[in-house]
Amino acid sequence: MTSPRPLSLLLDFDGTLVAIGETPDAICVSEELQGLMAQAVEQLEGRVAVISGRSLEQLDALWGRGLWPVTVAASHGLEMRHNGRLRAPPPSRIFASLSRATEARFGAQSGVVIELKSFGLGLHYRLAPRLRDALRDWAEECAVEHDLVVQPGDMVYELRLPGADKGDAVRAIMQRVPFAGSLPVYIGDDLTDIPAIDAARALGGRGIAVGSRIGEAANETLANPEEVQGWLRNLLA
Ligand SMILES: [Mg+2]
Repeated sequence: MTSPRPLSLLLDFDGTLVAIGETPDAICVSEELQGLMAQAVEQLEGRVAVISGRSLEQLDALWGRGLWPVTVAASHGLEMRHNGRLRAPPPSRIFASLSRATEARFGAQSGVVIELKSFGLGLHYRLAPRLRDALRDWAEECAVEHDLVVQPGDMVYELRLPGADKGDAVRAIMQRVPFAGSLPVYIGDDLTDIPAIDAARALGGRGIAVGSRIGEAANETLANPEEVQGWLRNLLA
């Protein structure tokens, strides 16, 4: 009899490991979460990855050195850091310019929160839900003009470069040592996580949804990031 395949943990960040804040900057990574990640990396012999729509720069700023031993697929997989080596597309200036254009269009006082990332632009309407349709139209206009993709999320439309999604990131990570041959468990909460859950399941693993938004795509559901942290504590106990 063959021994069971070991697990890999592939984790979304916002809404999965930490609760979503009023604005993208309004979250912090607790010492407890830092400790859990360090423990996971040790017990799973490095088979831990964070897969996020945030840029690597944003994630490093929030985590400090805590992400160094973790494989990171940032910007929906466009940026990948594994074993300290970074793979990323050339820098793009388009998002800074679209950020200025969005500010000019909606005004600083409108409640629209603009999140400038290395390879994307988040247009958040959590503080201005009435502007949802106007923001979507604006995002679609910008996407057509600049050959970008509009990614809807939790109270956000994100403009990003075409060519990668979180499912691609899962497949790329699972080909690498020490992930190759293991069973991926993907945990995520938003529409962008569905291709990643599908990829994990296609590789024989499973998907866990956080909250109710993407429950049908997953094998099981956890209510919120506190439950995710509890689930991790249990797994590592
Ligand atoms: Mg998320």
